[in-house]
Formats: sequence, C-alpha cells, structure tokens
Amino acid sequence: MSMTRRGFFATVGAGSALGIGGALPALAQQENTGELPRPGKGPIVIGSRNAMAAAARAVEGMRKGEDPLDAVIRGINIVEDDPEDDSVGLGGLPNEEGEVELDSSVMDGRAHKAGAVAGLRRVRNPSSVAALVMRRTDHVLIVGEGALRFARAHGFKEENLLTEKARQVWLEWKEQHSDHDDWLPPEGTEKKKEFGWKTRIDGSDFTYGTIHVSALTPGGDLVGCTSTSGLSFKIPGRIGDSPIIGAGLFVDNQVGAAGSTGRGEANLQNCSSFLVVELMRQGRTPEEACFEALRRIAARTEPRLRNPAGEPGYQLKLYALRRDGLVGGAAMRPADAEMVVHDGNEAKTLRMKTLYGG
Ligand code: ASP
Repeated sequence: MSMTRRGFFATVGAGSALGIGGALPALAQQENTGELPRPGKGPIVIGSRNAMAAAARAVEGMRKGEDPLDAVIRGINIVEDDPEDDSVGLGGLPNEEGEVELDSSVMDGRAHKAGAVAGLRRVRNPSSVAALVMRRTDHVLIVGEGALRFARAHGFKEENLLTEKARQVWLEWKEQHSDHDDWLPPEGTEKKKEFGWKTRIDGSDFTYGTIHVSALTPGGDLVGCTSTSGLSFKIPGRIGDSPIIGAGLFVDNQVGAAGSTGRGEANLQNCSSFLVVELMRQGRTPEEACFEALRRIAARTEPRLRNPAGEPGYQLKLYALRRDGLVGGAAMRPADAEMVVHDGNEAKTLRMKTLYGG
C-alpha cells in the first residue's frame, strides 16, 4: 500500500479508474505480518468534527480515573444535550413526520461487549441508554418502543426533542421539497420547484450529521461511541449505521477502534468500521485502512448515487485509532472533511484526506 497509489486516487479521482458500476479494483496488496500493534498509552481521543468538547471531556474524565467509556459518553452527552447541534440528541433533525428518532452504540474493548439503541424517541441521551443495554441486559440492540420502555425503566426523562429551530427547518423542508403536494410556504414565499430533495435553500446539505468518539485509555484499552439523530427527514423507523456494531462503530482491544459519520447506508452495506479495524489488524495504518474501506465502498456505489463525474456524490467519513496510539481518517469528499484528535494534552481539528476532490 503505497502513498503513490493513494495520491493517485486523491488527486485524479477514482471515477474512471474504478469503473462505474464495474468490477471491484484489485485490492491493494499488503502482507499480513501476523503482528498486532503494540499497546500504546492514552489518553488519546479521536472523533468527528463536532467532537471537540466531547474529546476534552473524555480526556479530563480519564485523567481523573473515571471509567473510560463513561468519560467518552459524558463527552458525547454534551453534544446530545446541545439544542444547537441539529444532528444529535435534543434538537436533532426529525424524521419525515417531524418526530426525532435517535440511534447510538457503545463498545468496550476490555470485555469486547457492545450495546445499542435505535429509533429511540423522547430521550435525549441515546448513548447513555446504549451503555445500559450493554451493562444491564443480556442484549446488544434494543429498538423503538422497546428502547423507550427500557430507558423509562432506568429513569430517563422523557421530553419533546423537537426544538423550535428544528421544527422550523422540518417545516421548511415539508413545504419546499416537492411541488407535487398540498403544503405551501408562507404567503409571499415562492414554492421552489428546483428545491433539492434534501437541500437547504442556501444550497447546503442538511441530510447527515452524527458524533463519533473513540478513546485509547492510559492503560492501553479501547472504547468507542457513536450517537446520531440519523438521516434527516428519513422514513420513520429507518435505522442508520450508528447503532449497528461493525457499521458505525467497532472496537477490538487487540487492534484498534473505528467509527464513521455520513451516509449510513454505505456503511451498513460494507461493514465499514469492522473492515477498517480488520485492515489495521493486517498491518495498515489507520489512514490507509480508512482509504481502502472507502475505495471498496466507492467501487460498489450504485449509479443513482453518483455525480455527473461518476463519483459517489455523498459524504462518508471514517475515523480510526490504532491500539498503539496512531490515529487517522479519510473522507469520501472534501465537504467538512475534518476530524478531532486529542493527544492527551490538547484537542485539534485536523483536515482529513479525501478519496475524491472537487
Ligand atoms: N451515519 C448517520 C446515519 O446514516 C448519519 C450521519 O452520520 O450523518 O444515520
């Protein structure tokens, strides 16, 4: 796996090289050395671009001797509680009926255990509920009404998660996304025929958003969590990759941790987080592992989801933390291609390399 190969894909773009809808490219060859990465020492925390405060909270907690998964979840709770972040928890953008449905998973490398909830309504901290699924049940994933009842049993507060701001955004989408229905925008506002499927009036995309955080503890263990309100305006009951172990999150204490944000369906169809960890097991660096996973996903992308240049038109970001402390990530496209890395001393936002330019 050479830098040259990756450079080629990053600068030229892989649309023609991959063959649209054609065969998979030959997998980049790299011998499995059979050697696992040596354990490193944390705290080292990585996360999605909205994970700055969460990463700082996670490191602070670990430094004080807090359980590392709790430290990560308390960090993620900050963003879940923030009504201004429209991609997670309270204030997350709702489904097509205006109801906020949350997905989250946690994984603890120490015991190789996981917990998750999906389609959870009315409870703002799905990550905390996911941790209880892992710790206080014999199950891994609880969904919908069952997840709400489980949260209720554990005393979680129920509330309307649709903030006024998110309601307005949803209503705007409802009134503008089609000119073949009976919803009309406010008087004096034109019904825009060209208004894209899930595009804001200013042209930006409000489809995706999620928080992911993975941590290497001072003792060399790995934990991770992903939390989201999922694809905005989704069909009620749609579950993304975030609560699916192996898709939006995977942790293997002997190798590393990986998580993702972006088009969940692509991760669900490719077990991306599991794949990234397996590629690291075979000796790839975190960044190389993320790129290889993205290349496979890109090659398998159906024509409907490709842009005029033949490239996957959606965003997908993969984040990886190897057991030895090496961190990396890669994104399908340049928009917001950033990740947060906390090296134990300070958190930085780093630009991620991308498979496609433009
Ligand atoms: N991956 C999330 C999902 O598909 C959304 C996102 O990360 O933006 O539900």
